Amino acid sequence: MTAACPECAAEIELDEVEQGEVVTCPECGSELEVLSINPLALGLAPEEGEDWGE
Ligand SMILES: [Zn+2]
Repeated sequence: MTAACPECAAEIELDEVEQGEVVTCPECGSELEVLSINPLALGLAPEEGEDWGE
């Protein structure tokens, strides 16, 4: 499966990913969250270490 990086539009090949998984774009290094599997859709993952006010 391939999906387009929302940041740099590169085609990223992904195998056996799960919804909610975070992958790194090999082109721009952005962390991308798998929003859905079918169809495969990627979104920018929220930055880790941020204080969400919990
Ligand atoms: Zn990218």
